[in-house]
Amino acid sequence: MNEVLASTLRKAVYERLDYLDRLVNEADVPSRASLADSEIARMTAAWRSLLADHEPDERGRCRACGGWRRRRPHPCSVWTTAHKNLIVVDTRSTPTTGRHTAASYLPTAG
Ligand SMILES: [Zn+2]
Repeated sequence: MNEVLASTLRKAVYERLDYLDRLVNEADVPSRASLADSEIARMTAAWRSLLADHEPDERGRCRACGGWRRRRPHPCSVWTTAHKNLIVVDTRSTPTTGRHTAASYLPTAG
């Protein structure tokens, strides 16, 4: 991929994320529900695809990260980012009271 295409791709992805952020923050409830119907499946598919590329090999090293001589140990930054964003709850923005508070710190099964 040349530099112009890479830049265009990068810009398009950031613009899409900005658009989705705006919808989440500014749209009414029916619009957000509609957004969830379509975008959650797209986001989970995207995460699964990305994570599949970064599955560990038979030696426990990421298949995608690192150079040709030495791959990075698993979990790589993609997996740690996924864990941080999909599993770990940001306690700074999460209420610390309520009946589900303790459960939010536990890893989910599956
Ligand atoms: Zn990786």
